[in-house]
Amino acid sequence: PLVLGIESSCDETAVALVAADRTILAQAIASQEAEHAPYGGVVPEIAARAHADRIAPMVEAVLADAGLTLADVDAVAATAGPGLIGGVMVGLVSGKALAMAADKPLLAVNHLEGHALSPRLADASLDFPYLLLLVSGGHCQILAVEGAGHYRRLATTIDDALGEAFDKTAKILRLGYPGGPAVERLAREGDASKLRLPRPLAGSKEPHFSFAGLKSAVLRAHESGEYAPADIAAAFQQAAVDCLIDRLEHALALIDRMPALVVAGGVAANQAVRGALEALAARRDMRFVAPPLALCTDNAAMIAWAGCERIMLEGEAWIGAAGDPLDIKARPRWPLDPEAEAVRGAGV
Ligand code: ATP
Ligand code: MG
Ligand code: FE
Repeated sequence: PLVLGIESSCDETAVALVAADRTILAQAIASQEAEHAPYGGVVPEIAARAHADRIAPMVEAVLADAGLTLADVDAVAATAGPGLIGGVMVGLVSGKALAMAADKPLLAVNHLEGHALSPRLADASLDFPYLLLLVSGGHCQILAVEGAGHYRRLATTIDDALGEAFDKTAKILRLGYPGGPAVERLAREGDASKLRLPRPLAGSKEPHFSFAGLKSAVLRAHESGEYAPADIAAAFQQAAVDCLIDRLEHALALIDRMPALVVAGGVAANQAVRGALEALAARRDMRFVAPPLALCTDNAAMIAWAGCERIMLEGEAWIGAAGDPLDIKARPRWPLDPEAEAVRGAGV
């Protein structure tokens, strides 16, 4: 099967054509960095408008690039949440229109499922189950991925996501937006041992992350005027990595042995994070899998791939299936774990 994917949940407009054999036939991604940079963060209204302007021409370009038409596609997969609701609605309604026009099934994809399955798009040898660290702009979770559609959440953040902490640190240090890559670059020039920042919840028996206190400590360190920005960036990144490892160690103690440790989401692009996880996996005799950098941050290939996974799961039953109803709603919040869905509160 061949799936057209559309992603619009944050500030990347993306379209991709992916086949179930893991070929990315064509893809396009338009970042809105320039539009949001003057505001130091994503402005939802600007994002929704930019998605609306770009999706249709990008769909045309991607199909043309692959030398195909909509008639060649087997399904249209669009992010239906979670994310900035205006942008999600624009992408989802575009997906519905394309599906309706071409008489193809619509697959309403959970953006987090896109991240969670993205490592399998790049690595055909990654089988279920795996232990996943999902670290992105809006989430910081540890999940037992038992199969496509089967996620058990083992830990989540009680306040900020890790990507958010990177972005806030960048703002404090005036590194501009988006912050994660800028903090990583500056940290390379710094000395993490010049200051000690807290590791919130390290050693805690509760399966949670917390990064708000770390961000506040960054602010205090910066305002003290005593430390070089590069040293603050390095100390922040080291503290964040230590928190990830501590919380993963905690999760690993609670579950049966997992063959693979996998990371996904925008922060998975960070080399210090990747390095520390790889070392943890080696200590635990687990395989370590991280997607290529372009599949870590938001993209449409992972959304199309999540659609492919669903089709493969349904097997023969898929042929001629209707897909999701065309009146399915966009969701600003949409946890992967059904139990988490039942518990309302922070970090979902
Ligand atoms: P979510 O997926 O939770 O809805 P999102 O889609 O906004 O949120 P992603 O696109 O997956 O998030 O990731 C973006 C985040 O990743 C941003 O917070 C960004 O700063 C961070 N990020 C990107 N590259 C790096 C890096 N090299 N180091 C650290 N953080 C990074
Ligand atoms: Mg982005
Ligand atoms: Fe994302």
